[in-house]
Parts: sequence; structure tokens; C-alpha cells
Amino acid sequence: MGLNDIKTRIAAAAEKAGRNADSITLIAVSKVQPEDRVLHVLDAGQRIFGENYVQEAQGKWPGWRDRFPGVELHMIGPVQSNKAKAAVGLFDAIHTLDRMSLAKKLAQQIADQGRAPQLFIQVNTGDEPQKAGILADELPGFLAACRDLGLAPQGLMCIPPEDQDPVSHFRLLRKLAGENDLPFLSMGMSADFEAAIAEGATHVRVGSAIFGARDYG
Ligand SMILES: *Cc1c(COP(=O)(O)O)cnc(C)c1O
Repeated sequence: MGLNDIKTRIAAAAEKAGRNADSITLIAVSKVQPEDRVLHVLDAGQRIFGENYVQEAQGKWPGWRDRFPGVELHMIGPVQSNKAKAAVGLFDAIHTLDRMSLAKKLAQQIADQGRAPQLFIQVNTGDEPQKAGILADELPGFLAACRDLGLAPQGLMCIPPEDQDPVSHFRLLRKLAGENDLPFLSMGMSADFEAAIAEGATHVRVGSAIFGARDYG
């Protein structure tokens, strides 16, 4: 476990898949982690981090950004509409564009703030009623509507159902990205990032395997 171990495993998975490791972005998911663990990973040179909660990220990252130049922040949790303004102000990428009402809010904020985070559309690949995301069938229409708002999503993101083999979900996401000319695929977490790389992931979101288990206390 740890940052260097994960980087080594990413390089090995990339090589096995005949891919360049540079084509894979490691997002270190620091949500809920104690400060000393995050600082340790910052000191080790990691600069790309993922967070799930706007308020938590707002509390800790502005200070760290001043101390560690080059930090890039990715929002990987659900964005409530009333947090769209803060999310556009803070994050460099948002992986969870999952509904038209949010697309409208983001478009408004991007225009107001003159700041445009990279956008990924979250796809509900398992068709799970309780899970956020656009259904596969609805993706082309949603993408067109986003583009009508002036948004330019560049990738897709998924969180496969917990009780299933993730590979078929990774494959579906890759197929949808290909059909819709989107270059980026945000898929793979601590338990399955190597399988995701084999299926074409360009962004892997790894938390506990880098930082240790989360304590939600
Ligand atoms: C928390 C989280 C992760 C990281 O999970 P680990 O299993 O700790 O690697 C990745 N993606 C999303 C969307 C998350 O919420």
C-alpha cells in the first residue's frame, strides 16, 4: 500500500495492456483522510487529488494549494445544485455531471466565473435506481443538451454496482465514450483499478489503497 506501490501497479497494468502509463492519470482520493496522511502524499510529490464533498474540500484545500503549487482538484462526489457555484470555483475537474438541472447551474457558473472545470458525465451503467448518473440510452441526448448549453464534456465516469464484476461496466463505459467521441474514461478504484486500466481507463480514482482505510467516525 502507499503511493509508490500504486504507481508501480499502474505502470505494470499499463504495460500489460500495451498502453503508455503516461496516458493514465492517478487521482488520489483524499476524502475524510486525516491531514497528516494527505500531507505525507503531498510531500511525496502527488498533486492530483479527488474529493467527494464540496464543503470538506473548501475547508482544507485552499491552504494546501498555497503551500504546494500545482495542485489539481477533482470533484468525484455528487454535486448538490446549491453547491455548483463553489464547485466551479474550487475544482479543476468535475466527474459527476449527472442531470440536466446541474448542467444548467454549471453552465451559468462557468459563464459568471470565467472558469471552466473539465467535465465528465456520470453514467449509471448498472441501471441502479438508487444511483446517480445518466442511463446509457439517454447519453447521446444528454450530451447534445449539454453542448446546447455551451458545455463541452470530455469524458465519462462510472461507479459499477458493488455486487457485480466491474469489467462489463468498464467495457460499456468505454463503448459509450467511443460512440460519443469522448477521449476520457474515469473508472477504477482501489479494488479494481488494474482491471479498469486493462479496459481503457484514463483516470483512476484511488483512495484507501494510497492513504489507508477511511474512518468516518
Ligand atoms: C471514495 C471514492 C473513491 C475511492 O475509493 P477507494 O475504494 O478508497 O479507492 C473513488 N471514486 C469515488 C466516486 C469515490 O466516492
